[in-house]
Amino acid sequence: MGRGGDRSRGGLVRPVAVVHAGAGKLSSELRENEDRCRAVLLEVLDNARMMLDAGRAALETAKTLVQIMEDCDLFNAGYGSALCSDGSVRMSAAVMRGSDRAAGAVAGIKIVKHPVIAAYAVLHSHQVLMIGEDADTLAIAAGAERMANEHFVTDRQRTRLAQQAEDGDHGTVGAVCLDHQGVLAAATSTGGLTGQPPGRVGDSPLIGAGTWADQSVAVSCTGDGEAFIRGGTARRLATLVERGASLRSAANDALVDVSDLGGRGGLIALDSAGHAVMPFTADAMPRGYWRANEEPRVCVMEAEDLPPS
Ligand code: ASP
Repeated sequence: MGRGGDRSRGGLVRPVAVVHAGAGKLSSELRENEDRCRAVLLEVLDNARMMLDAGRAALETAKTLVQIMEDCDLFNAGYGSALCSDGSVRMSAAVMRGSDRAAGAVAGIKIVKHPVIAAYAVLHSHQVLMIGEDADTLAIAAGAERMANEHFVTDRQRTRLAQQAEDGDHGTVGAVCLDHQGVLAAATSTGGLTGQPPGRVGDSPLIGAGTWADQSVAVSCTGDGEAFIRGGTARRLATLVERGASLRSAANDALVDVSDLGGRGGLIALDSAGHAVMPFTADAMPRGYWRANEEPRVCVMEAEDLPPS
């Protein structure tokens, strides 16, 4: 169980949800789609409000928020994922619950409509990480919806692969939530990088690299996956918090380490007292924040600090 949290008279923690839609360049495409991106993130936070206010668990909520973003072609996760060099889509996702560090992840899956549901199915199995066809099979056996691989391929991503487009390449999605019981959870989902070789796996599905949750903190990362893997970024942040660092300085330190390894990106992190940070070293990272009894806030192009300190 969580320890801190802003508690109401009934002893319940005041829920919080934070989401991101990937760190990357301030591309013309992002400019053109700013309003739609903002609308989707607001819809996602509205779902966070409905679920967490109704007493739903952080893990289930984080999973659902990511699932909604996987359905949006603007983001590089589920439908509209980045294409591998062979034109196929290979998706990865992870979920983690902080109270008991239960975790589930999938990498290189091809036919599950919502990769985050596949990760959730793995969390409920004896395994933590499943790859490829066997991960698809496990998820479908657990009831996940199946789609042909072509379903995930959009014209936008076909053009990006043809142009070897690197701007705005990111668009991985993630959510971290704190529920009424003080439990934290994190979820991340990605199609990887445009033109990646089919067997490549980034940081998103790797517990401790791109995704982490324990009793003190929940983290979802985005950016140059190799640097986040080498930095053990999400777990590094958690370790610093464990040793007494503030959430903000731990998050900044973790991103400085990623920079030292030659990578750029961003992350969202939430602690058991309901503090949130959303730093990034890329040009942009669409992101949003909601806290019980407050209006949700979303930043798409803006560099402004969210939530305002
Ligand atoms: N981190 C992801 C990867 O390396 C990409 C991203 O965040 O956009 O696969």
